[in-house]
Amino acid sequence: MSFVRLPESVVSCRNLVGGEWVSPSGASAQEVRSPYTGALIGRAPLTTASGVAQAVEAAKVAAQGWRVTPLRERTQFLQRFRTLLETHLERLAHLAASESGKTVAEGRAGLLKGMEVCDFALSLQNLDGGAHLEVSRGVTCEYRREPLGVVVGITPFNFPAMVPLWLFPIAVTVGNAFILKPSEKVPLTATAMGELMVEAGYPPGVFSVVHGAKPAVDALLEHPDVKALAFVGSSPVARHVYVEGSRHGKRVLALGGAKNHLIVVPDADPELTPQAVVDSFTGCAGQRCMAASVMLAVGDVQPLVDDILRRASRLEVGPGMGALIDRGAVDRLETAIARAQADGARVLLDGRGKRPAGEAYANGHWLGPTVLDGVRPEMEAARRELFGPVLSIVRVPTLSAALAVENASPYGNAASIFTTNGAVAQSVVEGARAGMVGVNVGVPVPREPFSFGGTGESKFGHGDITGPSSLDFWSQLKKVTRKWSTRTDGSWMS
Ligand code: NAD
Repeated sequence: MSFVRLPESVVSCRNLVGGEWVSPSGASAQEVRSPYTGALIGRAPLTTASGVAQAVEAAKVAAQGWRVTPLRERTQFLQRFRTLLETHLERLAHLAASESGKTVAEGRAGLLKGMEVCDFALSLQNLDGGAHLEVSRGVTCEYRREPLGVVVGITPFNFPAMVPLWLFPIAVTVGNAFILKPSEKVPLTATAMGELMVEAGYPPGVFSVVHGAKPAVDALLEHPDVKALAFVGSSPVARHVYVEGSRHGKRVLALGGAKNHLIVVPDADPELTPQAVVDSFTGCAGQRCMAASVMLAVGDVQPLVDDILRRASRLEVGPGMGALIDRGAVDRLETAIARAQADGARVLLDGRGKRPAGEAYANGHWLGPTVLDGVRPEMEAARRELFGPVLSIVRVPTLSAALAVENASPYGNAASIFTTNGAVAQSVVEGARAGMVGVNVGVPVPREPFSFGGTGESKFGHGDITGPSSLDFWSQLKKVTRKWSTRTDGSWMS
């Protein structure tokens, strides 16, 4: 296990506007402290509406030249960027971990997943040839995929590299000028990726970074030259971005939070299942939108529950598990555990007060794996996203009772079934409401080119954030009908 290397000095982040690194006027600075140690590792501007307007203006100018650059040329810039990502993989993995609290291995995995999205975007030069057909005598119709202009990505703290990489490789490759507004909690990785985009040689303004929080987001939502916004974050903010962006006439896809269900039946594999459940709810200290949160224990699965407890209690709080993003997250989770207890849940494993050994971590933000049993479906611990290493066990008598609980969730990101019976698995594949379903997989994230996206309050808007439908999100199809033929053997309708 490699401990995260924090930046050697405090990183001063600036906005990337028109190819230059600038400090927006009138912006105060936000401090960035590592969740591992509490050490100051960076500062970033909290951009106001005037800084946003400056970035949009530069992007608008860049979009004009970029839209007429052939796709094959656009992909050459992305190829160079992808190579740079690979070259700087370790440095970026440590940077992402040091500001978000995820483990270095998870930081690396996020970058590798982002590279898969680059590969998808790079394949467009071979695969996205559009369509061209003689639809009538001497008349042809053709699709032209055209960019939208200035587009925006607003991203969360928990995947400082991966979630931005879901967005901009595709958006830029189809010809848009893209503005990234990363979480103000993790501005360092976004800045580092901006440096690599500059090094890859993209024309100034094709890729921009605007740091900031709600005022920056609201300015982007209102700006008339922003044509589309993709958002990833919590459900209340996703709803706000979807409603406000749509109200201002923009195309919006907003991914929200999650409450993911793992359905465990008595015939589940006794080795694979407990480890998959533990990895899913404790990985990245539970700060993953695909993390297990509710285990629907069908019938008598007590041996599996006992094994889950055994494995989870052996985990060491610290760099192997990841830290919580800030003190507020620890307080929120400890309050939620206490409330679940007050509501009647039993705390089988209590992570409160657990901390890693050593002075270095004394000011970090920690919670050990926590397992609640006897959680009822109507309780907060079963219904609302907690976003920490907490597993709520809901006991149900039958598979259909389990599916009824899963179906009633306001969210709909992920659901998994653990079984050795194909028919049981199939009924969950068919009956679950979640947008991403796993069979004996604890974190059922689809690999590219299969797209990522949930349902319910986990996603506002339609289409998915990666994969084929993302192409349609970031572009529009122009339909061209041509008649050059001098043939006279039929009208254009014939
Ligand atoms: P968040 O909603 O607090 O912040 C996300 C982004 O919105 C940030 O860039 C932030 O600056 C901005 N923002 C925050 N409050 C805002 C407001 N009131 N108005 C306008 N903009 C605002 O989310 P977070 O805490 O950074 O990330 C964790 C959340 O993201 C969890 O709910 C997690 O489930 C979710 N998430 C979802 C997915 C998914 O694919 N569905 C992926 C990763 C994370």
